[in-house]
Amino acid sequence: MSIWEDVVLPAYPTLNKNLEVDTIIIGGGMTGVQTLFCLRGKNALLVEARKIGSGVTKNTSGKINYLQENALFSFYKKGKVKLAQAYLQAELESISLMKSWIHQYHIDCDFKEVSSYLVSKKVQNQRYFSSFSSFLKQNGIDVLTRIPKSIPYPYGIGVKNTYVFHPFKYLKGLLEHMKRERIYENTEIVKIVTGQNYYYCHTNLGYCIRAKNVVVACHYPFFFFPSFFPVQTSLVKSYEIVFEVPKNLKYTYILVEKPNTSVRFVDFQKKHYQICVGETHDITKSGNDLWHFQNLERLFSVADSSVYLKYSNVDIVTADHLPIIKEVKPHFYLATGYQTWGMSGSVLGARLVSSMIFQTPTLRFKDSSFHPFFYPVHIFSSAKAFLFSKHYQKDWYPSSLTFSFLQGKAMALYRCHGKLHLVYPVCPHMGCSLLFNIVEQTWDCPCHSSRFDMDGNLLKGPALHGICVNFFCDKNVAKKSKPE
Ligand SMILES: Cc1cc2nc3c(=O)[nH]c(=O)nc-3n(C[C@H](O)[C@H](O)[C@H](O)COP(=O)(O)OP(=O)(O)OC[C@H]3O[C@@H](n4cnc5c(N)ncnc54)[C@H](O)[C@@H]3O)c2cc1C
Repeated sequence: MSIWEDVVLPAYPTLNKNLEVDTIIIGGGMTGVQTLFCLRGKNALLVEARKIGSGVTKNTSGKINYLQENALFSFYKKGKVKLAQAYLQAELESISLMKSWIHQYHIDCDFKEVSSYLVSKKVQNQRYFSSFSSFLKQNGIDVLTRIPKSIPYPYGIGVKNTYVFHPFKYLKGLLEHMKRERIYENTEIVKIVTGQNYYYCHTNLGYCIRAKNVVVACHYPFFFFPSFFPVQTSLVKSYEIVFEVPKNLKYTYILVEKPNTSVRFVDFQKKHYQICVGETHDITKSGNDLWHFQNLERLFSVADSSVYLKYSNVDIVTADHLPIIKEVKPHFYLATGYQTWGMSGSVLGARLVSSMIFQTPTLRFKDSSFHPFFYPVHIFSSAKAFLFSKHYQKDWYPSSLTFSFLQGKAMALYRCHGKLHLVYPVCPHMGCSLLFNIVEQTWDCPCHSSRFDMDGNLLKGPALHGICVNFFCDKNVAKKSKPE
């Protein structure tokens, strides 16, 4: 459960026929839903593999903030002032568009202005902060130089016009204004075939959607070449804990030192909660989720028993810290890679993609944004993850998890509340060994972030089916769970 799931989003049917449309949007997270919103009335449809919002969006902490340590601040620190300026402008325009939708369509989503701070424990960073502060001022931003005493880091700067909101209430508000748009849930695109003037998108249930334009808003360029995913990005896992606090301090902050941590507050059922995100790492580099959760709890001096909710999630970071919002081939668009800043980033994605589809004058950010599509370095890191996955020392596993050989293959047996859960812990996507996440009781892929529950059912792709024992015993039986 994520904290936003107190709001139930509308349910949509599963696609059970062939269709022809102008634009298909694949993926129903922040990017997909907002792209559909930009394209409403224009013969577009959205397909979502599971439920709307069930991807990374579900576990976001919902800060709408342009003061980002791994993008704006890092561009500036590296001397890329022009890029920082273009990025800042694009972020401000996206936030202002989001704000205007919220006001114009009366979307009640707990959207509140808060101050946001970028903080550090190192005095050396003060030098960067003061020149960054001049940069922000030159770009019309009011800068706060005093850090509130309740933030445990002494150095930093802040800004005022940043926001927090309830992402599911926001999505619900947008969806209520798209009653005529076609949305399908539990409809996964498994293959895309390029025709002469159209793309043919095949669903897991064997239906086909013919479209002139395809918008990939589901992260993974699976259409490109499945085995080379991801080709220009790395996947980072972040951990989130939510606990009750006496007061909503009405600010957000981000620690610039690694591992970054960020904080916001939220009011929920008449209580105040603090949401802390941190321990972010490349998924190929660590598998001990319990240790990361414990580190985060230690950092915020909160006892495990006082944590109300905890979860981890994987997002996409690009090699040059710019989002990938691009027409990768004619009429085929990709919007992802927001460096864990997808609230405003997804609005930028939706605006750019819809403006590219309509060939409206290019938005300023477009020209400066792109890098080659192919980054061999990440293929190596993927390959490295594959090899390491086979040799991880899984000494953090509990005694309730054991391995037993069956027909020459190591099966995992996990005992939980007197029940035995048996899976073949190898990812059907590319054969990486899965790691058991004791905290969330899931099997996670350290190569490409597919996720399975303790019975082996698929929770998240790019894998296309689960790892239940049936699959091990008889491939054809398991494939039945993935319709023809
Ligand atoms: C812990 C954490 C905290 C964060 N906090 C913040 C924050 O405070 N502020 C901020 O700006 N950003 C934050 N982010 C980042 C932000 O949440 C994400 O960047 C954003 O939600 C991405 O939205 P999306 O629509 O691109 O992706 P998703 O929400 O992942 O949507 C993609 C959808 O595509 C679907 N899909 C996948 N494959 C297929 C297929 N083949 N066919 C059909 N559908 C498919 C998936 O089921 C999924 O629903 C955070 C991220 C993390 C991990």
